[in-house]
Amino acid sequence: MAQYQLYSSANEPATVAHCPIDCPIPEYGPEAPQPSHNQNSDIPFTIDYSYFINDISSKRQPSQLREITRLLEKIPPNCIKFGVGVPNVLTFPFKKISVELITGENIKLRGQELSDALQYLPSVGYRPLIKILAELQERFHGPQYWNKRSIMMTSGAQEGLSKAVDMCMRCNDSVIMPDPVYTGAVDLFTPYDAEIIPIVQDSCGMVVEEIEKVLAERKKKLLPIPKMIYVNPTASNPAGTTLPTRRKREIYRLACEYNLLILEDDPYYYLHFEKENPVSFLSMDTEGRVLRFDSFSKIMSSGLRVGFITGPMTLLRRMELHMQTSSMHTSSLSQVLLYKLLSHWGKDGLISHFMHVKNFYKQKLDYMMCAVNKHLHGLAEWYEPNGGMFLWLKIIGLNDAKKLVTDRCLDKLIVLAPGYALSANSKNPSPYIRISYSIASLEEVDRGILLLAEAIREELLE
Ligand code: PMP
Repeated sequence: MAQYQLYSSANEPATVAHCPIDCPIPEYGPEAPQPSHNQNSDIPFTIDYSYFINDISSKRQPSQLREITRLLEKIPPNCIKFGVGVPNVLTFPFKKISVELITGENIKLRGQELSDALQYLPSVGYRPLIKILAELQERFHGPQYWNKRSIMMTSGAQEGLSKAVDMCMRCNDSVIMPDPVYTGAVDLFTPYDAEIIPIVQDSCGMVVEEIEKVLAERKKKLLPIPKMIYVNPTASNPAGTTLPTRRKREIYRLACEYNLLILEDDPYYYLHFEKENPVSFLSMDTEGRVLRFDSFSKIMSSGLRVGFITGPMTLLRRMELHMQTSSMHTSSLSQVLLYKLLSHWGKDGLISHFMHVKNFYKQKLDYMMCAVNKHLHGLAEWYEPNGGMFLWLKIIGLNDAKKLVTDRCLDKLIVLAPGYALSANSKNPSPYIRISYSIASLEEVDRGILLLAEAIREELLE
């Protein structure tokens, strides 16, 4: 119905056409925090985003029904809501949702919050939560030009990545990725017959000279230049590497020079062990070419399935349109519960929770380093990770660790990830293995590494 047409085009919020209620135009962006520095709202991002948006994504239109949900946020409470096709929460069997925290405190959802948790939400997510997350981004990353950016809630970082890839990829496009890599990201590109351009990692992550070489060569040979670079900058999966700020600045410079979008997949950001917080790509983005994917999976609960994207409004709007017709939105219950917890804790409570989680993994890593130093000396090589939950080991004298992992280690009841499964080109044999020190007990860490050492010796003797 024309009355509910909130957007004149699928791209940007426009004037409200024939809105039945004298309501303000819905803002698309988050309730942005007060600009802190270097904010010049008159300077737009000048990138031509149509270059990055594929045909399917550019054809997406706003779902009229979903746009009403946006409208609902703006109407006065006494408005009679005849136009809303949602079930009545009074028919739902929940009176109160109460959650006990490990500290013994209780979080209770009642009244309006309970209704919000049980009801449909706008596709961008639960506004009060987005507001808190915008403040969190401001505190940790201080993005420039907030008024050109937005936040959208996703079911984990994975959904955000998936929506971004589906927005941008055309068949046979190429993408730059670290090697080894989180193969959950590679799998998103596979259906597009993408050309994965692997960039070797050293102890500090992707080697920038390699990226530069690849791009320069492709330019010289008139080969297509990739549109995207995928990075997993902090305590990466599986290599455990963290990109230093200097490398990030170089990568950002190359992204500007060759017109690439940066997919900053950073679910381990709050698990780094450094004194200073890593400087993110988002924080250095002046041109609007960074899509940052955050996640609560590693710090709150992976089962809640809550993550969020921070990025240029134009791109987020495209992904929102996709969200409107796919899952509609991230779980309301998860979002409201998280909002309630974050507002209960306040900023300082959240930071101390981050510290608690970090210390947990640091202690595990310390045990792991003791165990590998004791048992694997001369059998394997590794770099000590400075965050996260992964240790990436190269077995000395072995070309392919597949049999070691799938036969010998399993016989000894140790489960490891073989390197080939985590390489950008999984067809190649790999002498690497990934050890996750997240869930093994301290006793299991020592025993497991001793057994691994036995398995390696047996394999080498064969
Ligand atoms: N990116 C990386 C690098 C990961 O390791 C993972 C989870 N293993 C994800 C994304 C997906 O995380 P989420 O649970 O937030 O979807």
